[in-house]
Amino acid sequence: MTEGTKTPPDKTPPDKARRDKSHYEVIVIGAGVAGIYQIKRLADLGVDATMLDGAPDLGGTWYRNRYPGARFDSESYTYGYSFSRELLNEWHWKERFSGQPENLRYLNHVADKFDLRKYMQFNAKVEAAQFDEAEHLWRLRVADGRELTCRFVILAIGLLSTPTLPRLEGMESFKGRSFHTFYWPHEPVEMAGKKVAIIGTGATAIQVIGEIADKVGELTVFQRRPNWAAPLNNGPISDEEMADIRARYDDIFAACARSPGGFEHEPDRRGFYEVTREERLALWEKLYDEPGFGIWLSNFREIFTDEAANAEFSAYIAERIRRRVKDPVTAEKLIPKDHGFGVQRVPLETNYFEAYNRDNVHLVDISETPLERVTETGLRTSVRDYDFDIIIYSTGFDAITGAFDQIDISGIGGEKLFDKWQDGPSTFLGMLVHGFPNLLMPTGPQSGSASTNFPRGIETGVNWCTDLLQHMWDRGYTSADPTFAAQERWSAHVTKMYAIMLMRKAKSWFTGYNSNVPGHEHGKVRYFVYNGGTPKYVAAINDVVAKGYEGIVFASNARPSVQRALRSSAAE
Ligand code: NAP
Repeated sequence: MTEGTKTPPDKTPPDKARRDKSHYEVIVIGAGVAGIYQIKRLADLGVDATMLDGAPDLGGTWYRNRYPGARFDSESYTYGYSFSRELLNEWHWKERFSGQPENLRYLNHVADKFDLRKYMQFNAKVEAAQFDEAEHLWRLRVADGRELTCRFVILAIGLLSTPTLPRLEGMESFKGRSFHTFYWPHEPVEMAGKKVAIIGTGATAIQVIGEIADKVGELTVFQRRPNWAAPLNNGPISDEEMADIRARYDDIFAACARSPGGFEHEPDRRGFYEVTREERLALWEKLYDEPGFGIWLSNFREIFTDEAANAEFSAYIAERIRRRVKDPVTAEKLIPKDHGFGVQRVPLETNYFEAYNRDNVHLVDISETPLERVTETGLRTSVRDYDFDIIIYSTGFDAITGAFDQIDISGIGGEKLFDKWQDGPSTFLGMLVHGFPNLLMPTGPQSGSASTNFPRGIETGVNWCTDLLQHMWDRGYTSADPTFAAQERWSAHVTKMYAIMLMRKAKSWFTGYNSNVPGHEHGKVRYFVYNGGTPKYVAAINDVVAKGYEGIVFASNARPSVQRALRSSAAE
C-alpha cells in the first residue's frame, strides 16, 4: 500500500452547532485557496453556510503537497489574496517563491484572522450530491453517513487534487516506503544514505529532484518523457523589499489583471519576426536569468502559436540545458523532442539540471526500457531489477475533472455529471453546468482560473459566483440554470481558442492526457481550460452580468419550505 490513504483525526474540532445542522443555504466543498475565500465572502454577507473537506485540516493543495522543494512558482506577493489591505500590510513573504510550510501558515493565518474556522468541517468527504427538482435543493451524502441539504453547492475542489498512480503490477508488494508526492508524509522522511527512486519528471518531480539530490544516498529518476524547464531564480525578500512591494500592491494586482496569465509578466508585444535574431537572443538571455515565468510569459506571443518561432526558442533552451549538464548523452535525454517549450505547463526549477552532474543521481529512460512492475525490493524495467528503500511516485493528477468524478453528482432527471463529461467538460463560463442548477464552480473546467495564476483567477471566480447568489437572494430566486444554448456557445468558444494554440498537440493535463486514467491515456483532446487570457475572460463574464445574466434561467419556488431557506430567514 502506498502511504497517505489513511485519514488522521481532525486537527480542528468542528463547531458542534454547525456540524449538527442538516440544512444550510450554501455548502462550500473544499477548504483550499478558493474555498477559504468563498467562505469569507459568504461569512461577510451573513449567509448560513458551511464548508466540507475530506482532509483533516484546511489548505487544499498546500495541506497535501508537503514534498521537499514544494513551493510557488508564482511570485509570492501575486499569489496571496488581494481582498484585504490589512492582510496585505501585515504579511511578510520571506521568499520570492515561497515554500509549502509558509504557504500553509499563510492560509491558516487568513482563516484565523477572519474567524473562518467555525464554518469548516474536516474529514467530511462528500460522496454524492443530488438535485431535488421539486424543492430546488441539493441533497448531499457525506462519507460519515450524514445527509445534508442546501440551496447552493459551491465546488472549490481544486484543479489538481486527484493524484494518479501508475497501473503497475506489484505496487502492494514493495517492502520499503512508497508514496505519491501529493500524500508526502507529515513527519520528516529519513532519506540520508537511502536508495531512492522517483517516477515522473513533471513540475513536481523537478522540484523534488533539485531539492533531494544532495540529501539522499542514491537517486534514480525514471523518466518517460522529458519536460522543458527553466530556472526559478528564487531569493529572499528583505524587509525593505517587502515594504516596497506593499506600497506597490495596487500596481502589482493591476498588472496581473492586465496580463493574459494573471502574473506581473506581460508578453513582449514586438512581433517575433519584426526583430532580428540577435534581438530575440538578447531577450531570451535576459529572461532566462530573471525570476519566475518571464521566460514563458514575457516572451514573444508567437512561441505559443507558431511552430517555427517555437522551434527556434526551444533550440535556444536546449542549448542552455546542454551548457548545464556535463554528460552530453544525459543532456540529450533531458531535452524534449516530442513537443516545444511552453506548450505544456512549464516547470520552474532550482538545481534540477545540475543534479544530473552528481555521481549519486542516475537517469533511466523508460521510453527505451519500460517499467514492467514493482517488486518487493524495488522496480523492474524491461532490462533489469533495481533495489530501493523508497519509491516516490510523482506521476501527476487526474486534472481538472478528476475531483468532480470523485463525487456522484446528479442533476435534473438524474443525469450524472460524470456521464455528461465523459468526453470532456462542457460548461457555461466554466462556472455553471446546464441541467445542474445551483451548482457553482468558481474555478471550474473551462474557466479562466485554470490557465492563470491560480489565486488571481480564484478571486475573480469567487466574486462572480457570490454576486450571482446576491442577485438571486435580492429577487427571491431559488434556482439558476444556464441554458443549453449558452453552454454550447461557451464550450465552442473554449474549443476555438485551442485551435490556434500549439498546446492542443501536447500530451499534457492541459489537454486531458493522463496515461494512468482509463479513457485519458490516448491523448484525445479535452477542452479543459480557457485560453483567451485573464482580460478576455473577465470581460466575458462581466458582459453576462451587464446583460442581466444573459444565458441563465432563474426560477422561484415559492413554497414556504423553500422560502425558509432564503438568505433573509436563514441567518442563525
Ligand atoms: P505532471 O506534470 O502530469 O507529470 C507527471 C509525470 O509523471 C510526467 O513526467 C509523466 O510522464 C510521469 N508519469 C505519469 N504516469 C507515469 C507512468 N505510469 N509511468 C511513468 N511515468 C509516468 O504532474 P506534476 O509534476 O505533479 O505536475 C502537475 C501540475 O501541478 C503542474 O503542471 C503544475 O500546474 C502543478 N504544479 C505546480 C507547482 C507550483 O506551482 N510550484 C509545483 C508542482 C506542480 P509523461 O509525461 O510521459 O506522461
